[in-house]
Amino acid sequence: MYEYRCRLCGTVEPAGTRAEARALRAAHREEFHGPDEIVEVPRMRFVDLPREQKIATVAVALVLLVAFLVKTG
Ligand SMILES: [Zn+2]
Repeated sequence: MYEYRCRLCGTVEPAGTRAEARALRAAHREEFHGPDEIVEVPRMRFVDLPREQKIATVAVALVLLVAFLVKTG
């Protein structure tokens, strides 16, 4: 005797065999917690950043550049 227990929502379903329990799990996940997917996210480019973040990035780069110039010059 087997049981499928969903730790996410607490559902418990009796199953005759381990294979049956696995099938119940697949069906349960799909029905109640799905659908889910894994997708590849494209790399973020500088131009895609929000405006404030662009300004902050440029500011940091300028500070680093000035610090470098002051140190070496
Ligand atoms: Zn569940």
